Parts: sequence; structure tokens; C-alpha cells
Amino acid sequence: MNPFTYSSATAVEDAVRDNASHEGAAYIGGGTNILDLMKENVARPTHLVGLNKLPLTSIEPTPEGGLRLGALATNADTAWNEEVKRRYPLLNQAILAGASPQLRNMATNGGNLMQRTRCYYFYDTATPCNKREPGSGCSAIGGFNRIHAILGTSEQCIATHPSDMCVALAALAATVRVSGPSGERTIPFEDFHRLPGNTPERDNNLKPGELITGLDLPAKGFEKNFSYLKLRDRNSYAFALVSVAAALELDGDTITDARLALGGVAHKPWRDQEAENLLKGQPATPETFARAAAKVVESAQGYGSNNFKIELARRAIVRALKQAAEGSQHASDVFLNSNP
Ligand SMILES: Cc1cc2nc3c(=O)[nH]c(=O)nc-3n(C[C@H](O)[C@H](O)[C@H](O)COP(=O)(O)OP(=O)(O)OC[C@H]3O[C@@H](n4cnc5c(N)ncnc54)[C@H](O)[C@@H]3O)c2cc1C
Ligand code: SF4
Repeated sequence: MNPFTYSSATAVEDAVRDNASHEGAAYIGGGTNILDLMKENVARPTHLVGLNKLPLTSIEPTPEGGLRLGALATNADTAWNEEVKRRYPLLNQAILAGASPQLRNMATNGGNLMQRTRCYYFYDTATPCNKREPGSGCSAIGGFNRIHAILGTSEQCIATHPSDMCVALAALAATVRVSGPSGERTIPFEDFHRLPGNTPERDNNLKPGELITGLDLPAKGFEKNFSYLKLRDRNSYAFALVSVAAALELDGDTITDARLALGGVAHKPWRDQEAENLLKGQPATPETFARAAAKVVESAQGYGSNNFKIELARRAIVRALKQAAEGSQHASDVFLNSNP
């Protein structure tokens, strides 16, 4: 680990100012990702601004009838919050599908959005990686890429965003609240993370020094018909190979509203609004679900070891939509016990 200084902020303005006054500074929430990156010499901040004393831990109603999640509320406190459980069970399930109880007790909501890819080459400083060192090349393309992306990739990077929570936030159309040197602003969730393009070193659209202060959930929570389906190599403590957040609103058998987002398949939580439109106004049948799933994977591209993800994603979408339509979300976690 490289030497660094540390300070702890008690007000948002102080945190932002402290960050701006140190070249190469970084924020630290729960530390469950940034400390690992520092130990591996992938992140080398000169100064850490501790956030845990900021008054951003509350979960409270918004004037619009939604719910505001403080950026410093832990993933555990968020998942087990009574309003989240009752009104946004999709979010509850997605958070609980991630990491372990110990990690969720430390991890913060802001840090969850900012966690970096689990691409093994990104963590291995002996190998080329455009995300870690722009211009050095991508070891995953042409290398072992079983966990890598099939949608929205570029010739520069095929990494995936690893979060479960963010897949539910994409489906629920959350808004990210940020505060920075130029003031406060809000960012629609789908515009927060980025596709790799020619700048894979940039994971999101935050401006330098901006701090996430909270997440706003809209009033609509899809609490009756939802599913978070996570497919992974082990039944716990493993990142998704493919995950699906499906949320439906039904009038009898007819789908009146639909949300569909995927994890483990792209550089960002992948929401497909064209597929959602194929669902709306249609009967909730296997044929309708199959059409939407086919739409999502229409432009998917495999890179060798991850070819299996295309069919896996297609089937997972159909299954998640069926679970959502049945309103029978339980035991949705699936153990994928095979190598392709
Ligand atoms: C073994 C292991 C297994 C895991 N499994 C899963 C899993 O299955 N699913 C899953 O979703 N996640 C998983 N995780 C990841 C875990 O959820 C993240 O590490 C965690 O959410 C990050 O939150 P944090 O508060 O600890 O972030 P930190 O480590 O403190 O920070 C992460 C990044 O966010 C920045 N940051 C932190 N807070 C803010 C803020 N408010 N504003 C702006 N920037 C900020 C930091 O500067 C840093 O760059 C796993 C982690 C580990 C170690
Ligand atoms: S996929 Fe992205 S993160 Fe992984 S080696 Fe290639 S450039 Fe680096």
C-alpha cells in the first residue's frame, strides 16, 4: 500500500472542499472496495476523505411520494428498512443477493454505485488493462472472459458492472443526488453509469470531486409483481454471471407497465426500454416474455468463454418475468453449478 493521509468530514460541504484541496484525493464510505484496490496497488489515492460521520444515513419519504435513501446508509440498513421491504421489495431482494451480511453491514449505498469492476485483469497490475492504465490494451478480449460483458462492449473494454443493488435501482428508475464543487444536481439512474467506448477508465458521469449524497426512489415500487433473479457459480458470496430485475404492473392478465434490467452483462446496469415496450399492453404469457428476452439479447456478442451468457440471459429474462407475473418471488436465487 502507498502512503496516504486521512481526514473525516462531518458536513457535506467540508467533505467536498477537503476532497478538492488534495490532488489525488478519494472518498471512502464502508471501505469494502477501495481498500482492496489500494492493497492491490490499483487505486493510489494520496488522501482519503472519510464519509461515515456525514448526516446522510437516513431513509425518509420524498415530497413526491417516493423514498430517499441516504448515501451513507448501509446496504443492510437499506435492505431491512420497513418502507423498502414493503414498498420496494425488488430492491430488498437485490441487495440481499449481494456480498455477505458482514459486507452489507459495512457497504454504503453511495459506495455500492461506485464499486469497480471485478474483471480479474483489472486487479492484476502485471497485465495490460485499458481501464486501469488507458492505452495499455485489454487482456480480457482474447483472454479468459467467462465473467465479461455481452452487451454495449467496445474494442477497449468488455468489463461488467458488478452491483446487484444497481440493477434494481435501474429497474425502479431511481435518481442519484450529488453535491460537488459546483453545487448540487440530480442524475437519472440510467445516465449515471457509462458504457466503455474509448474511455473505459471512466465508470460513470460524476464530475471530479462530486459526492453522492442520496438516491431517490419514485413512488411506484412494483411491490406486487417483481423478481430479482441472480445466476452465479456459488449460492452465496459470489457476483452475478447474469442477473435480472423484472417488475410488472398487471390489469388481470394484461401487462400495463414493465421494467426490465440486467446485471453481469454490460459495463453498466442494462435497462432495455424497447423490450419493456414489447411487454406493455400484451398478455403475460411465455410467448410475450420470450419476445422481450429475444429483443434484449438481439445485439449481444460473446467473446469466447462468455458465449454461454447470451442463452443464459435469454432464459433468465423469461424466468424472471414469469416469476414477476406470478407474484411468487421467493427462493429466486439459483445455483449455476456448471462450467460451459
Ligand atoms: C468479497 C466481496 C464480495 C462482494 N459481492 C458482491 C455482490 O455479490 N454483489 C454486489 O453488488 N456487491 C458485492 N460486493 C461489493 C460491495 O457491495 C461493495 O464493495 C460495496 O457496496 C462498496 O461500498 P463501500 O461503501 O464499502 O465503498 P468504498 O469501498 O468505501 O468505496 C468504493 C468507491 O466509491 C467511492 N465512494 C464511496 N462513497 C461515495 C460517495 N458517497 N460519493 C462518491 N464516491 C463515493 C470511493 O471513493 C471508492 O472509489 C462484494 C465485495 C466483496 C469484498
Ligand atoms: S475488460 Fe476492461 S477492465 Fe478488463 S482487462 Fe479489459 S480493459 Fe481492463
